[in-house]
Amino acid sequence: MLLKIVQAGDPVLREAARPLTPAEIAGAEIQRLIELMRDTMHEAPGVGLAAPQVGLPLQLAVIEDVGENDAAERAPVPFHVIANPRLTLGTETIDFFEGCLSVDGFQAVVARARTARVEALDHRGTPVVIEASGWYARILQHEIDHLRGTLYIDRMRSRTLSTNRNMARHWAGHPIPELLDRLAARTDPPR
Ligand code: ZN
Repeated sequence: MLLKIVQAGDPVLREAARPLTPAEIAGAEIQRLIELMRDTMHEAPGVGLAAPQVGLPLQLAVIEDVGENDAAERAPVPFHVIANPRLTLGTETIDFFEGCLSVDGFQAVVARARTARVEALDHRGTPVVIEASGWYARILQHEIDHLRGTLYIDRMRSRTLSTNRNMARHWAGHPIPELLDRLAARTDPPR
């Protein structure tokens, strides 16, 4: 069974999600939800899925990445769960294309902190500390944004917004600084 992924415009994506108790996380209902979110993320496919994206305003997200890409500092991340996360960001930022299963069909460049530290509860409700960098740090920031009602489109460099098709056709493989320059505004937009 798969869950329905809600799209931008659904109010649940703009709510602050509520924290879960360790007992709730360990309980049958949330354990079942974690399984369903995992299956839904695999099927999509995506590298992360937050509970608000399946219509539930809960501070819970699943993450798993099998991809590798040196340019994006991306390496495989095994499946895991974060609940009630607290995020601390490093000062250095990196620009890269990012998409979202709730903004289907599009990507845009988003500046994210290169490193992130997350204090959270895991799938058993046990406290964990995650130190992440590169693409994994980006995934964590994106998913934790979902738990606070924020989407990547709130943070994107809006002139880089591209359909997935046009991204593959025009921008894939180009260094980000080059495409930011090509996409830069040449005149002020009309008022
Ligand atoms: Zn998303």
